[in-house]
Amino acid sequence: MAEPLDIVWSRPLPSGAKPSTVTVSQDAAGRWFVSMLCEDPGVRQLAATSAAVGIDVGLDHLLTLSTGEKIANPRHERRDRARLALAQRRLAKKAKGSANRAKARREVARIHARITDRRRDGLHKLTTRLVRENQTLVIEDLTVRNMVRNRSLARAISDAAWSDFRSMLEYKADWYGREVIAVDRFFPSSRLCSACGALAGAMPPHVRTWTCGCGATHDRDVNAAKNLLAAGRAVSACGAGVRPQRRTPGGQSATKQEIHGATRGTSRR
Ligand SMILES: [Zn+2]
Repeated sequence: MAEPLDIVWSRPLPSGAKPSTVTVSQDAAGRWFVSMLCEDPGVRQLAATSAAVGIDVGLDHLLTLSTGEKIANPRHERRDRARLALAQRRLAKKAKGSANRAKARREVARIHARITDRRRDGLHKLTTRLVRENQTLVIEDLTVRNMVRNRSLARAISDAAWSDFRSMLEYKADWYGREVIAVDRFFPSSRLCSACGALAGAMPPHVRTWTCGCGATHDRDVNAAKNLLAAGRAVSACGAGVRPQRRTPGGQSATKQEIHGATRGTSRR
């Protein structure tokens, strides 16, 4: 007879919720996961607000908002990354097929799992807050940027964080009646002055602040976030070629949009 499993639930099942899909998986650290997709009759759309935000993603900061707020990477992540790098170097030195190698591999997986857990936790809090506070959330569409160059560990982790962030943002926006707009990254969000619309010259990554000919001094990331917001708003307002995708989970409608090439045909240059 099978033993009942000792499961730690991330949160209680909402009352009245019926799981429609149950997925069982195992990660490299040997932990089993059960995830259930539920329709939660308790989810209510939030009252509409006029607030909108542009969200820029970076390496030194997790996110920069068009409001000027910077959201740092979790403090523990740098330390965890260093531990992960060390564990990976140890693993690389172990003889293939040895017991020590298996042990080293479990250690790498364990650290990886901890980073993932902590990060997801932080991202959940963050996305819930952003969706509650804003009606429209404009992000950069990074799917076109396939990070083949520069596959550093930091980069890989930040990419994974970004894709988790985006999917959480989108499904929560769906729940609460908010709108997520993804703008194409061919749009030069760092080099465009958000005050006057002039395009600055080359902007190497180490340039953190710059001053435009119009006299406006910009924090690079805040400026980029403001430009994303402006591009998203332009697209949202003109509505050209944009059709909100309406779904009706549990009889509710929600709006989600995916837009490419958002800068084309807008008035900004
Ligand atoms: Zn300017």
